[in-house]
Amino acid sequence: MEYIQIYSLDFFNDVCLEYKHAKHLSFEALCNTMRKRIGDIEDNREIRKVEHCLHDVCMSGFAMMYFQDPSLLEFQQRLEDKARNNNLKTLFSVKTIPKDSQMRDVIDKLDSEKLKPIFNDFVEKLRRGKQLERFLFMKDYYLMSIDGSEYFGSDKVKCPGCLTKESKSGKIHYTHQILQSVIMHPDMRQVIPLAPEAIKNVDGHQKQDCEIQAGKRLIQKIRQDHPRLKIIIVGDSLYSKQPFIEKLVKHRMRYILTAKDNDHKLLVEWVNEQRQLGEVSSYRTTDTKGIVHEYEWINDVPLNGRDDAQMVNYFHYRIVKNGKVTYKSSWVTDISVTEHNVRELVRGGRSRWKIENEAFNTLKNQGYHIEHNFGHGKENLSFNFFLFNLLAFFIHQIFELTDALYQQCRGKFSSRRAFWQCLKNTIIVLIFPDWQTLLERIIDPMAFL
Ligand SMILES: [Zn+2]
Repeated sequence: MEYIQIYSLDFFNDVCLEYKHAKHLSFEALCNTMRKRIGDIEDNREIRKVEHCLHDVCMSGFAMMYFQDPSLLEFQQRLEDKARNNNLKTLFSVKTIPKDSQMRDVIDKLDSEKLKPIFNDFVEKLRRGKQLERFLFMKDYYLMSIDGSEYFGSDKVKCPGCLTKESKSGKIHYTHQILQSVIMHPDMRQVIPLAPEAIKNVDGHQKQDCEIQAGKRLIQKIRQDHPRLKIIIVGDSLYSKQPFIEKLVKHRMRYILTAKDNDHKLLVEWVNEQRQLGEVSSYRTTDTKGIVHEYEWINDVPLNGRDDAQMVNYFHYRIVKNGKVTYKSSWVTDISVTEHNVRELVRGGRSRWKIENEAFNTLKNQGYHIEHNFGHGKENLSFNFFLFNLLAFFIHQIFELTDALYQQCRGKFSSRRAFWQCLKNTIIVLIFPDWQTLLERIIDPMAFL
C-alpha cells in the first residue's frame, strides 16, 4: 500500500507564512514600498519643464546610495546608449535616467517629511515577518539607542538651516547634523534605523537648534509612529537630565541613560553616602579568564538637588583586570534594579555603542560615504541624500537579517566594502534582469557560462 504523508494545516500555514515573509521583505517588495510613498508626493514642477518623472529621479538617487556609487547614473547611461537597457531600468524600474544635476535640483526641493514614513513601513514589514521580535529585550521591550551625528560640514557652503560654530580665529564652520535612533539588541549585530530628526536652525529662531531639543522632538514622533511599542531609550549622559527624563516619562518610555560622574555630582555624593551606610547593593563575579566584573546598585535616589528632583535607580559596572580597572560606567534607569536583572541592564546600557559602531561607522567608513560631499543644495538636498543613504543601509540590514541568498553572497567577501565593490564593478559591464540574478551570478559566475 502506498504511504501518503498527510501534512497538518499548520504545516501549510507555516510554509505559506515563511514564503510570505521572504516575499514581503524582498528587494522588489521593499523598492515597491518606497515607490508607493514616492508616488504619493505631489510633483509641483511645471509640466512643460518635466523631463524625468519624480519616481525616476528619486529611485536614481536611491540607487546611487544603494550601490554606494556616486557615478552610477553615468555608467548606467553608457549601458543604455550601447545596449538600450541598463540596471537602473531592470532593478529599479527607472524609465529615463536623469543627469546628475537634474537629479540634484529635484531632490533638493523634495519635502523630507514625505520620505520619512518609509522607515515605519519597513519596521512594520519586519514586525509582520516576526523579525522584530528577535530584538526583544528583558521579555517584551525594545532597546532604542539615540545619538547625534554630523553628515555635512563646510567652511564655505551654507544654508539657513546650517548649524554654525565659530572658531577662536572668528572663522565660521557650517554643519548639518541629525539625531538618529535605532532599535538594537546586545546580541544582534544588525540595527534597525528609525527616521532621523534633523538638528537644524529654523528661520526666526534666535537660538541654535541642539541635540537635546531634537531629542525631545524625536521621542514625541517615535511615540506617535509607534503608539504601543514598549520602548527603553538608551542614551549618553547628555540625556540623563531631568527635563529630558520628564519627556520620556510623559511619552511612556523607559530609559537606561549613562550618568557620568561630572554631570551628576550630587547624585554621586548621595550614592557615596549611602554606600557608607551600607545601603548600596553589590555583586561581584570572576569569569573563566580571571577578569572581575563588579556591579553596584541602589534604587530610588534623587537625580539632582532640585526640590522636585526626579527619583531614579542607579547602577554602576566595573571591569577589573590584573587589579586594574579597565572599564567603568554608571547609568540611571526607571527600571527597578535587582541582583537578578543588574547584568542584563548593564548589557543594555553598554550596547549603546552599537549605534556608533554598527550604524554611524558603517555609514561613514564602510562605503556609504555619509560624510562624502554628495552636495549641499539650497534646501533639502543633503538631508534627502542622507535619508536615501539610510534607507539603503536599512534594506541591507534587512537582508542581513532575513535573506539567505544575500547572506550567502556577502559571505564570499571578507568585508562589506569588498562585497559592494564587486557588485558595483559587475553592474557597470553586465545588465541583470533582477537583484536575485545579480547575487546568484556573483555567488557562482561559472553557472552562467
Ligand atoms: Zn546648510
